[in-house]
Amino acid sequence: SCPRRMMGADFQRLRNDFPLLARPVRGQRLAYLDSAATTQKPLEVIEALRRYYLEDNANTHRGVHFLSDRATELYEAARERVRRFVNAARADEIVFVRGTTEAINLVAATFGRAFLRAGDEILLSAMEHHSNIVPWQIACEQAGAQLRVVPIDDDGEFRFDEFERLIGPRTRLVAVTHVSNALGTVTPLRRIVERAHAAGVPVLADGAQAIAHAAVDVQALGCDFYAFSGHKLYAPMGIGVLYGKSEWLAKLPPYQGGGHMIRDVTFARTEYDLPPRKYEAGTPNVEGAVGLAAALDYLERIGLAAIGAHERALLDYATARVAEIGGLRVIGTAREKGAILSFVVDGFTAGEVGSALDRHGVAARSGHHCALPAMRRFGIEGTARASFALYNDREDVDQLVAALRTLRR
Ligand code: PMP
Repeated sequence: SCPRRMMGADFQRLRNDFPLLARPVRGQRLAYLDSAATTQKPLEVIEALRRYYLEDNANTHRGVHFLSDRATELYEAARERVRRFVNAARADEIVFVRGTTEAINLVAATFGRAFLRAGDEILLSAMEHHSNIVPWQIACEQAGAQLRVVPIDDDGEFRFDEFERLIGPRTRLVAVTHVSNALGTVTPLRRIVERAHAAGVPVLADGAQAIAHAAVDVQALGCDFYAFSGHKLYAPMGIGVLYGKSEWLAKLPPYQGGGHMIRDVTFARTEYDLPPRKYEAGTPNVEGAVGLAAALDYLERIGLAAIGAHERALLDYATARVAEIGGLRVIGTAREKGAILSFVVDGFTAGEVGSALDRHGVAARSGHHCALPAMRRFGIEGTARASFALYNDREDVDQLVAALRTLRR
């Protein structure tokens, strides 16, 4: 299908879809440049949540009563909506979770229990978010396995040559980010998957920073697992997705035990339901799934290609503009980058830069971005980070630059 072409002027109008962006902050126009942390929500997502509670709320059990059927239908329709969004082969490859963190913990815990043994290795990159490090560390500790780390270069590029050197007969799984939240680097995920599969090794991709910025096709990428959070995709907090190939979801053990994930329970043994329910113990987040489906409708109407182009133009503009600031250095200069601009300013801590921005109505994250190993790689404590979404414009960037100009010793 051909995405409708949106012009800059159309994107200008989209800001009005997000009621919160009209809120003044510290008496000034809000320049919200922290969408990598979480996105604001369009009115139609907020309305979908309201409608759900006004008209459709019940727990999900089929054939119990009218509203329960209705909630179940909405929940399963959202699953199908997500399937279509990421082009998974089957809806039962879509597991609803709390977010990226829970998705990765689910795979690390279950894969670890079933397949990790002493001496095995899990291969990560040096720019992973803590949520794609710590769960693997826990799984490795339990199994007596080890983490191996693919280094990055001075631009923050994934060292593919080192990856090829590190993948070997002990590698059980590769866990790698699709887009780095700290540096903006887009990793060569498809090539990574091809190389890993050639060695018979499955790949989990952390899609938290990729999913809202370009069309993601899990079949084209070929990865075995793909994790993302609704809240970085204009959807509510507390809902996220683990895509898992059906072969893997069939053979991994359950994560949590409880209601909604069983076929039969006796005190002697439990027969689990089929995936995805096997991995969805307890009352599901129906509200979150409904909000996620509404967000995907909103996004696809605009078109991921148009969003990606708009954000790339903004990133280029911002990269050029911040170069005017004396002593500012961009951290993360990979050839292909997501909608993220991380930087340090000579003589100021990241926190001081963040506070100066905040005083001028600019919301940007400052700190280590839950990627301490990546910060250490560059010999810094942290960065200030401006991140872009479909509702940002040049005015936001100009406000950022004006705020940076006020930094004076
Ligand atoms: N991975 C990356 C690359 C991220 O940017 C984030 C969010 N900062 C996460 C994982 C964790 O996502 P969540 O907190 O929504 O579980």
